[in-house]
Amino acid sequence: DDGDSPYACSPSVDNKDSRGWDDVSVYNAKKKNYAWFQAPDGNWELAKILSVSGTESLIAFSETKVVKVQSDCLLRANPEILDGIDDLIQLSYLSEPSVLYNLQYRYDRDMIYSKAGPVLVAINPFKTIPLYGDDYIEAYKRRKKDSPHVYAIADTAIREMIRDEVNQSIVISGESGAGKTETAKIAMQYLAAVRGGTGIEYEILKTNPILEGFGNAKTARNDNSSRFGKLIEIHFSEIGRISGASIQTFLLEKSRVVQCTEGERSYHSFYQLCAGAPLSLREKLNLKSVYEYKYLQQSNCYTIPGINDAEEFGIVVEALDIVHVSKEDQENVFAMLAAVLWLGNVTFLTVDDNNHVEPVIDEALLTVAKLLGCEAEQLQIALSTKKMTVSGESIVQKLTLTQASDSRDALAKSIYSCLFDWLVEQINKSLSAGKRQSGRSISILDIYGFESFDVCPMIPRFIYTLLLYTYVCINEYIQDGIDWAKVDFEDNQACLSLFEKLNPNLRSSQKPLGLLTLLDEETTFPNGTDMSFANKLKQHLNSNPCFKGERGKAFTVRHYAGDVTYDTTGFLEKNRDLLHLVSIQLLSSCKCKLPQIFASNMLSLSEKPAVGSINKLGGADSQKLSVMLKFKGQLFQLMQRLGKTSSHFIRCIKPNNSHSSGIYNQQLVLQQLKCCGILEVVRISRSGYPTRMSHQKFARRYGFLLFDHVASQDPLTASVAILQQFGILPEMYQVGYTKLFFRTGQIGKLEDTRNRT
Ligand code: ATP
Ligand code: MG
Repeated sequence: DDGDSPYACSPSVDNKDSRGWDDVSVYNAKKKNYAWFQAPDGNWELAKILSVSGTESLIAFSETKVVKVQSDCLLRANPEILDGIDDLIQLSYLSEPSVLYNLQYRYDRDMIYSKAGPVLVAINPFKTIPLYGDDYIEAYKRRKKDSPHVYAIADTAIREMIRDEVNQSIVISGESGAGKTETAKIAMQYLAAVRGGTGIEYEILKTNPILEGFGNAKTARNDNSSRFGKLIEIHFSEIGRISGASIQTFLLEKSRVVQCTEGERSYHSFYQLCAGAPLSLREKLNLKSVYEYKYLQQSNCYTIPGINDAEEFGIVVEALDIVHVSKEDQENVFAMLAAVLWLGNVTFLTVDDNNHVEPVIDEALLTVAKLLGCEAEQLQIALSTKKMTVSGESIVQKLTLTQASDSRDALAKSIYSCLFDWLVEQINKSLSAGKRQSGRSISILDIYGFESFDVCPMIPRFIYTLLLYTYVCINEYIQDGIDWAKVDFEDNQACLSLFEKLNPNLRSSQKPLGLLTLLDEETTFPNGTDMSFANKLKQHLNSNPCFKGERGKAFTVRHYAGDVTYDTTGFLEKNRDLLHLVSIQLLSSCKCKLPQIFASNMLSLSEKPAVGSINKLGGADSQKLSVMLKFKGQLFQLMQRLGKTSSHFIRCIKPNNSHSSGIYNQQLVLQQLKCCGILEVVRISRSGYPTRMSHQKFARRYGFLLFDHVASQDPLTASVAILQQFGILPEMYQVGYTKLFFRTGQIGKLEDTRNRT
């Protein structure tokens, strides 16, 4: 039925369904149009409408596949002219399939970057694509190219930093393996190429192999998975050149050092050292092959296809040279790696009738003692006893096999994480050596993959949500004057309040006990268990509409755009970061430089007054600085710091789980777009004037209806005449000097009219 008014079925701003999509029910299917139909497998397919009768439509997927469906199952497809447009907010008909199709259209043509309003969407190509390098950098720098790209984001950040004199940040998020770290490197490369010159930018780039060597590992999701969060702040001098940088890392996953599931690896550094150390170093450290070490044996995975660990070792050493870690310190670093590996080989023997054990004095124990610079007996004592304070008196207690193995593993984990922190400190010294940090900065945040954060998996999602929320609500509001009151962001506030203090926008009276405080409390209770923690959450947070207690140890958080259920199993264990005081004392008595530094860092941390109060057990038998407590402080700072910057968002997307190029799994992509509210952002951003077209292009495409004398006028005049001719309502567009700005849906109408003429 083509006789209807051409606009009757077009979505208007008011015709939204409950999800905010252009309403399906008001779309009367039309002959000759294309529409989306959801197949039983959940995937959307594009179909041509052959005929419409009553509420039913006859649709064709190909010449041979024709089916009859209910018309209200169809979602309107966008006109072909919008295929592969580079900003999703320009889609005339916004729906899940149209977003998915548009991204796939681009992905298939190696256009892996698209905009979703303020967010850059980057789909991992899992292959080398020719979008990078000097020519591209030059083109973006000179603004010869304007298609979405990490370079364009970095370029905008530079320009806005200089123009507005405001620090900038680039916030990169996404699942594990989606491409965050690669994207961060691409952004750094652009900044270095465009704003380098002093040589310091070269040092900054060389921090990557070090951080990845010591902080990345092969996991089931990603062969080079970052097991820590990273904020790199790049400093600029007054004339806008890179003058230095500082790196902050967040919570390295320590458990991986001693425990690793089948098919995954521990940190790259161990394999690199074993494969690449020269003979003299091997002898000094009594280094064996990877197959000899228990910590590495348990996952039964030693190599990564396509990666040569020995070569990587050389690259890391070169990078350490460049950031001024002396050869002597490098050897100290490798000695710590070897000590950790040998610690894993330490075994225990039962020595009395109470199941108490002592470490066996063998090659493993002797090597560890030598590498740390202590006596074998001291090490023995540290691994098999703990000190307790009972009624003011200090007593020494022997350990059982489980306790002793735990204390050995705790020592290994502490040494490794202290080593990582120490390396970051050295890098920072080198990157800021002798420079005043007075100018501006651009920070790049590479947060954890959402599922990689083992202590509290909701945190990364929360960070991202909060940042995006702040950005969309505050920045955009101020810039565009759009009436955000109507936008349903309010209920998000409740979700954020689950995390209390971290939200700088909350007043203290609004800060109830939140998830993190509760986790911390429970960790310090002697009888705290995952179950008692889950119960406590239910008790305190049940009134929060974003929280839902589940059966057993689980609970659900209603995130920005979807519910996520978390299982608290292991939360407490991972939050307890227990190192016996005897072990810290052992490290501080070692003759080697690094163990001493580690011990003093640990002691200075636990002596801080705020931290002292956490040790509610009374006995000073261990360092009880919980993981969360440390992390909470860091996060709070991070939020405050980023809160003062102007943010740019990049959302990395993993198109398939098999790490293959060319495979686009609709459901997987959709789920990632939904999580963190990318679709929501598109919808909201569309309420402005997202579609733009130059007067020239507009006049060329739609000018055929005009009288010749009008059409031959300048493009601006012609454009305005066309708008009138087509009956586009004045509130649906704005006329700029070079471009027209449209509300969504308008190009669809123009195309409809054009096609009918
Ligand atoms: P994690 O959270 O586990 O650290 P991630 O998001 O940081 O994951 P990356 O390590 O950056 O993921 O990317 C995973 C892999 O995807 C890379 O090793 C690389 O093979 C590929 N990849 C990512 N981005 C690109 C790109 N722009 N071009 C080519 N390959 C890429
Ligand atoms: Mg990473």
